[in-house]
Amino acid sequence: MKFSTKAIHTSGNDPQTGAVAFPIYQTSTFSQDVPGQPREFQGRRLSYGRSANPTRTALENSVAALEGARIGIAFSTGLAAINAILMTLKTGDHVLAAQDLYGGAYRQFMKIISNFGVEFSFVDTTDLNNIREGLRSNTKLLWLESPSNPLLNITDIAAAAEIAHEQAVTVVVDNTFATPWLQLPLQLGADLIIHSATKYINGHSDVVSGLVVTNDEELGAKIQFVQNAIGAVPGPQDCFLVLRGLKTLELRMQRHCDNARAVAEYLADHELVKKVYFPGLPSHPGHDIARKQMNDFGGMVSFVLKGEQKNFDAFFAGLKIFTIAESLGGVKSLIAHPPSMTHASMDEAARHKAGIDDGLIRISCGLENSEDLIADLEDALAKASQA
Ligand SMILES: *Cc1c(COP(=O)(O)O)cnc(C)c1O
Repeated sequence: MKFSTKAIHTSGNDPQTGAVAFPIYQTSTFSQDVPGQPREFQGRRLSYGRSANPTRTALENSVAALEGARIGIAFSTGLAAINAILMTLKTGDHVLAAQDLYGGAYRQFMKIISNFGVEFSFVDTTDLNNIREGLRSNTKLLWLESPSNPLLNITDIAAAAEIAHEQAVTVVVDNTFATPWLQLPLQLGADLIIHSATKYINGHSDVVSGLVVTNDEELGAKIQFVQNAIGAVPGPQDCFLVLRGLKTLELRMQRHCDNARAVAEYLADHELVKKVYFPGLPSHPGHDIARKQMNDFGGMVSFVLKGEQKNFDAFFAGLKIFTIAESLGGVKSLIAHPPSMTHASMDEAARHKAGIDDGLIRISCGLENSEDLIADLEDALAKASQA
């Protein structure tokens, strides 16, 4: 089955009623005919709502199918999914992570998990030598984000996984920006995928949710154990919405990518723009690897304006269609200033080390008509240059 067919059909119709839209099983527990012998649904035991719920299982299995995996595990947020992976570690373990990664992941690593004696170090993973040199005898995880947030750096996942596997290090890829339509990290050699399903997977800016996907039965069982034992599970209503969003992922990603390409090309030619970060531009240092490991280049574009604070302020004030907001991957185009918004939890030194300019602007191209998006940027840039 091809991608969109899988996205639409994996969850099936409701086995009980034939409902074509998979129902919201709004229940906290399930009846058992014989004590200790709960019913099963798509491989999960229906004993208690934290352990499993059919709406959740339908979502988990659908995302797993799209990633070419056997096991999907849903969480209340992307950060809860990240946490579930970290909860499989022990004191004394080390995690080697990409230096340019989601600010909330960085915050959880440094402000919470490191309190339990887990060590973290950060390197530029676009240079494979840094991975080779950064691995230690106690390294358990290599944590990659490609394309990364917010600089859209591209790491060669297959090559990085090969280096990590020589030392039996588990490879985690945050596939939030790419989604399985653009990139299949497990096929490239990764062991675990995390998603903030809040973003493209759901795609409508109306849910926060997260997922872990794996083909490794042992890792999958450990993370399912954490899912139940820690309990950061999504409710059935949220699972329903994510499952609904997932069905149109292919169509949405195509438009996100087309819009981002148009916006990036427009910005790259504008005299007030100092630098554009978009892996689809041949000038992007990761362009060739992105072509090799991705279907297209994604819906995110970052850039830096020339000029001073007043130009920057006038630009943001001049936007009408772009909404100033955190998050990404929804139908509406959003614009953010990572240093004061999504990445404010990263200290300034770490941000500068990662190459995040104090004036960096990040765009999530929505599903509007690209001509309207460009016209909106044109107006705001004109106001910025007159400021
Ligand atoms: C948003 C995001 C997360 C965190 O997900 P939440 O659903 O907000 O908890 C993790 N990784 C990336 C790349 C993200 O963009």
